Amino acid sequence: MTVFYMPKIIHEKEKCIGCGACAAVCPDFWDMGDDGKSVLKGGKKVGKNFELTVKDAGCNEDAANTCPVQCIIVK
Ligand code: SF4
Repeated sequence: MTVFYMPKIIHEKEKCIGCGACAAVCPDFWDMGDDGKSVLKGGKKVGKNFELTVKDAGCNEDAANTCPVQCIIVK
């Protein structure tokens, strides 16, 4: 049986300090918003967070690793 694993990207936006690192290492998924915090492109608001399910986490692993406040989670 093949199990398809779809990674979920979670942005805990409240914690974001707007350093821009995620947008620098992973511009396909991250951008900087007018509020000075980053934006997960195509992310859906879920409670206080933004979430996006993707086929391939791609550079989001790098974004999560580079975020100084660890507010990007790849599940
Ligand atoms: S790397 Fe983290 S703190 Fe910096 S802008 Fe991105 S989400 Fe915000």
